[in-house]
Amino acid sequence: MSSSVDTNTELANLVGLDRASLEQYFVEHGEKKFRAQQIMQWVYQRGVTDVWNMTDLSKSLRESLQNHVRIAFPTIESEHFSADGTIKWLLNVGKDRDGKSNAIETVYIPETNRGTLCISSQVGCALDCTFCATARQGFNRNLTAEEIIGQVWVADQRLRDLYEGKSLLTNVVFMGMGEPLLNFSNVLPAVKLLLDDYAYGMGKRKVTVSTSGIVPKIDELSKVLDVSLAISLHAPNDEIRNELVPINRKYPIKELLAACKRYLSNKNRKESITFEYVMLQGVNDSEQQARQLVQLLKDIRAKINLIPFNSFEQSGYKRSSQERIDRFAQVLMSNDIVVITRRPRGEDIAAACGQLAGQVADRASRANHYIRMYERSLLNRRIETECV
Ligand code: SAH
Repeated sequence: MSSSVDTNTELANLVGLDRASLEQYFVEHGEKKFRAQQIMQWVYQRGVTDVWNMTDLSKSLRESLQNHVRIAFPTIESEHFSADGTIKWLLNVGKDRDGKSNAIETVYIPETNRGTLCISSQVGCALDCTFCATARQGFNRNLTAEEIIGQVWVADQRLRDLYEGKSLLTNVVFMGMGEPLLNFSNVLPAVKLLLDDYAYGMGKRKVTVSTSGIVPKIDELSKVLDVSLAISLHAPNDEIRNELVPINRKYPIKELLAACKRYLSNKNRKESITFEYVMLQGVNDSEQQARQLVQLLKDIRAKINLIPFNSFEQSGYKRSSQERIDRFAQVLMSNDIVVITRRPRGEDIAAACGQLAGQVADRASRANHYIRMYERSLLNRRIETECV
């Protein structure tokens, strides 16, 4: 069994298949359905990838698996430790046809009583949010389900190595590189594995999908999964949001908030939606804009996550001063909105929100750069074809 992703191999990788797909695999191969549960426990809970060590499987099954499947994960290209305990991994996700390598970033953020893993869903991102470093890299491709859940597996194993075998991951957020709802079919099985008791068994409140607002996909997500939803709002009106988050031209705030309400009403969800709001000095951080935001969210169960802007080279923006952030938060709180101001983590290793750049190879990134520079409208058309 190989322990790293080999794009040339012809053997199917069992990693990334959710329980239903694994059960189907075993039934189709004349085995009992519950083999799926056994394999999942070996791989995700005990970290075993060599089938010979899966001792409750018969010798003949192990032989057959060894000949027909692989259990392979991305490999760590580099590891970076921040002074605040945050760890960032650059994970190798294989070479493209032209031989250039792609790598994505995954970040572990320890807190007093939880450990959050921030994972990526795409190599780069097509959405071109003006304040995000990933956007600068352009878009290369969607990650596969195995690469998405692989980030959790690699981080979990590595943390166990570092911290005396303890499992430190309690939460997973899709806030790394990429737009998860534009890679829905691969994000879905990965989330199912996070929630599945035979894999990571996380509670549905511990898994957060963050989106820039792909309206039809929010509805789709709502039907098939029950997880925490975070919306990258960042502006109190369409005029500013069109600039900061260009996908807003396709799905404006009114449609986005209508989708959020549908999300909350479906299955009678009791929790609120988190709205992320990056604090950009002089752009979206005045008291008047805070009041506009209150109006916007007045009939929706909302929490607001204020994110002090994390800078990167030539971003062109400045982080709002602490005083402006405090005043903005005060307006929201005095209107009974729950506000959490996110503390920047891992800035010294470029691991904070929006600083993830990875390694995005190939032409798609240059094409995207061209589009960004000269014809934003083209991008909207491209997104349309990708997401519906
Ligand atoms: N595409 C998804 C998830 C990726 S970004 C989304 O848009 O939600 C995760 C969060 O970090 C988003 O709220 C994003 O807008 C925010 N972010 C991006 N760049 C940032 C920056 N430079 N500083 C602070 N937050 C940033």
